[in-house]
Amino acid sequence: MSIDSNNDWQLETLAVRAGQERSQFNEHSEALYLTSSFVFENAAQAAARFSGEEEGNVYSRFSNPTLSLFQDRLAALEGAESAICTASGMSAIMSLVMAHLKAGDHVVASAGLFGATIQLFNNILARFGISTTYASQTRPEEWAAAIRPETKLFFLETPSNPLTEVADIAALAEIAHAKGILVAVDNCFCTPALQRPLELGADLVVHSATKYLDGQGRVLGGAVVGSKKLTEEVFKFLRTAGPTLSAFNAWVLAKGLETLKIRMAAQSANALELATWLEAHPKVARVFYPGLASHPQHALAMRQQKSGGAIVSFEVKGGKPEAWKVVDNCRLLSITANLGDVKTTITHPATTTHGRISAEARTTAGIGDGLLRIAVGLEAVQDLQADLERGLAQL
Ligand SMILES: *Cc1c(COP(=O)(O)O)cnc(C)c1O
Repeated sequence: MSIDSNNDWQLETLAVRAGQERSQFNEHSEALYLTSSFVFENAAQAAARFSGEEEGNVYSRFSNPTLSLFQDRLAALEGAESAICTASGMSAIMSLVMAHLKAGDHVVASAGLFGATIQLFNNILARFGISTTYASQTRPEEWAAAIRPETKLFFLETPSNPLTEVADIAALAEIAHAKGILVAVDNCFCTPALQRPLELGADLVVHSATKYLDGQGRVLGGAVVGSKKLTEEVFKFLRTAGPTLSAFNAWVLAKGLETLKIRMAAQSANALELATWLEAHPKVARVFYPGLASHPQHALAMRQQKSGGAIVSFEVKGGKPEAWKVVDNCRLLSITANLGDVKTTITHPATTTHGRISAEARTTAGIGDGLLRIAVGLEAVQDLQADLERGLAQL
């Protein structure tokens, strides 16, 4: 039995219950359907399933009960009618664009987007006649000024990576909707446990499920979430083009959602404690964390999000040698660019995630050589502090 989605269930209830359809075996935990195709009773049923006259699974490129489980559960958490899952976060963004844009269309996007998203817009979609203008995350008037007659999409990511700049989703949605422009939000950093962009006026949400939705660094996945009408177009693209999530990954992700709320709450609390400690540290020049009163968009972040999230960036006094010293003295924090894991990770953006862009562009973006990004996990904060202090003490 699947729980009644019309009922007014709380997020933590939906996270463990929504989307489950028990099989004839009445299993308690969600079943995993590792099958590429589904069998029909007879020729007439096959025809009806293929034409869409009869609902039911056909072929796992576009329908599978384990994918439906993950999709329905995620849609419930975002307060959406529907979700379509994809093989990765990048394929979710690509599917959204392929479903809703065409050659000649124009996008306005956050200046601080995830690196691969910028590459997708600039190096791939540009070749197919879709152009992109970047606008400041914190200045809605720049978004308004960037609008052209052919603008079809506002694409934002908030908070941004790694500087945690917060965009005002409601303000940008108002500007976009006055001109009939769709608004999509990459909700990777907050997840629906902390921020629900559709309630703030966004039309679509995209996820890299690889991050907090999984939460334990195991699998890749993505999703596009929104109204039935808008996600149906994404489904049509996915059905034909095939950037499909595997059933196994969908199962891992659906189970990951069960603990999403408590993970996000605990990791955010750890992040706030660590950010507060870093801000008072004599070897630290500046801390970027929306949960700190010193953050330029602190008030907006606290209105729009349930907490500051679990990403903390900070600048050490000095440059690359000092930042690398902190990284290289870590024995507990993992030196890896991934985030969203219960294991805390540390990255030097200037030489990793943002290493492919020019030094000049990095300076414009505010990503200095002394900047470090920490994706805070579930370890004890005092252990994280001790690990960072080893390097900081040597500066
Ligand atoms: C990781 C990430 C993506 C891309 O997701 P993949 O699952 O790695 O393809 C997109 N947006 C943001 C904000 C991310 O952090």
